[in-house]
Amino acid sequence: MTKSVFLDRDGALVEDVGYHHKLEDFKLIPNVVEGLRLLKTFKLIIVTNQSGIGRGFYKMEDFENFSNHLIQELKKHNIKIEKIYVCPHKPEDNCECRKPKAKLIKDAEKDFDIDLSKSFMIGDKRIDIEMGHNAGCKSILVLTGNGMKEKENSEANYVARDLLDAAKWILSEE
Ligand SMILES: [Mg+2]
Ligand SMILES: [Zn+2]
Repeated sequence: MTKSVFLDRDGALVEDVGYHHKLEDFKLIPNVVEGLRLLKTFKLIIVTNQSGIGRGFYKMEDFENFSNHLIQELKKHNIKIEKIYVCPHKPEDNCECRKPKAKLIKDAEKDFDIDLSKSFMIGDKRIDIEMGHNAGCKSILVLTGNGMKEKENSEANYVARDLLDAAKWILSEE
């Protein structure tokens, strides 16, 4: 069994400009590289809601191009993202995979034989925190992206300034 850090994409890794999918909008959030570098012993997996696909704002292909660019940028810093799990549906679709449901993490658990009790979820919204808890992981809210707006009443195990702060907390919990 292995342990994992599940990562929200928009607002946690890349700047969230709203339904973004164009490479010209790609911007890593400060301290993301520094934080992910500390998490060498964890499998890094992205879990993301992309209702913009279901709403027809952009296509799965656009999402994949943007995500692949992110993976390649991180690879330049020797950071490996194992896989990206995505929910492309609209909230009103009532699908099984949209955060805060745990399905995306549960799929990863099977694919990579992950011990969720030793794993963490990091995101900038309450749904990320809930998703982590629904899956049996500890959850960290980062104050990047929408984090400042979302921190009231969040049930996060830790509230981190950014991804570097989150990574340091994870290591201290081990
Ligand atoms: Mg987010
Ligand atoms: Zn879905």
